[in-house]
Amino acid sequence: MKSYEKEQSRIDRYCAEVKRELPENVRKWVSRHVIYNMLNFEGRHYMSSVAACASPLYGKTHEITFYNSDYLRRMPKESLKAVIAHEIAHCWLGQNTHHDKVAENIIERFEVDADNQVIAWGFDIDGLNKYSEKWVAKRKPKEV
Ligand SMILES: [Zn+2]
Repeated sequence: MKSYEKEQSRIDRYCAEVKRELPENVRKWVSRHVIYNMLNFEGRHYMSSVAACASPLYGKTHEITFYNSDYLRRMPKESLKAVIAHEIAHCWLGQNTHHDKVAENIIERFEVDADNQVIAWGFDIDGLNKYSEKWVAKRKPKEV
């Protein structure tokens, strides 16, 4: 199995797990309105964004796109589940996070609101934040 396919199946598995842990009304809504896909960024070591979501352009389908990168592949399970919950939160709150479509200050508010929703749903946002900080720090260009 290629690493891309392996990562795809890991994400599918955790998406299903996250869904089971959501409140029932949210779980039902996600089943009807949210789809997942993945873009391949293998070998792009600098990447530190993992996913984006788009609120519906057509019909009622929200789309979550995962970026298959080293950052995502090395992410521990509980952190990846928090990422998935975070993207679902954007959909649930009706937030489009494609940066070319929304102003920066609005995006910042979206991120806070989505994280608060993830905390309310009981996922491990602290673990995710720690993993992200470590990842970014390790790859920061050396100061001269
Ligand atoms: Zn976000």
